[in-house]
Amino acid sequence: MDGASKRERLEGVTAEVRACRLCPLHEGRMNPVVGGGSLDSPLVLVGEAPGRKEDEQGKPFVGSAGKLLDSMLEEANLERSKLFITNIVKCRPPNNRRPLSKEVRACSTHLETLLGIISPRVIAPMGNSSTGHFLRMFGLEKAKIGDIHGNVFRVEASWGDVILFPLYHPAAVLYNRTLEQELKDDFAALRRLLEG
Ligand code: SF4
Repeated sequence: MDGASKRERLEGVTAEVRACRLCPLHEGRMNPVVGGGSLDSPLVLVGEAPGRKEDEQGKPFVGSAGKLLDSMLEEANLERSKLFITNIVKCRPPNNRRPLSKEVRACSTHLETLLGIISPRVIAPMGNSSTGHFLRMFGLEKAKIGDIHGNVFRVEASWGDVILFPLYHPAAVLYNRTLEQELKDDFAALRRLLEG
C-alpha cells in the first residue's frame, strides 16, 4: 500500500471513530484519540486508553505518562515521529478507569483496521489491559505483564508475521519507580529487535 492510500485509509478510520457510538465511552469524550505517528513505522506502541490531556487534545500520550514515554524513547534512541502510537480504546473512560472488556471488544475493529493499514513488524502493547487484549487476539495464554514484559512472541497477523513485545505501561512507572530500569532495559531490547 503506498503512502497516499495509507493516509486516505487513516482518514477513513478517523471519520469512523469520530462518528462511533459502538460503546458508552463516546458519551463522555471531548475528542477521540485515533493515534499518531508514521504510517510506515515498523513498530506500533499500544497503550490502554486516552487520559484527560489526550481527550482534550485528541492526541495520544501527551500527559505525564507521555512525557515519561518520550524520555524512554529518547534514551533508547527511538524517534517518536517515526513510530505509531495508539490505544486499545479510542475514547476516554470516565475518571480514567480501566476500559471494560466489552468496550475493548467494541473498539477492536478500529484497532485492527489501523494495524492493517500500518502493517507493523512489531506490536508493543503497554500495560496489562493492552497486553491481555493482544494475547487473546493471537490465541496466546493469559499472563500478567510483570511475568512477560520484554519477552518476544512470534505471531501471525492478517498482513504477515509479527513480533509481540509486551512492555510495562509508562503510567505504572510513575506510580512505582522501581519499574523504571526494567522499562528502560525493555526499550533498549526493543530497539535492538527493530535493528535485527
Ligand atoms: S471507545 Fe471505541 S468503540 Fe467505544 S465509542 Fe469510542 S471509538 Fe467507539
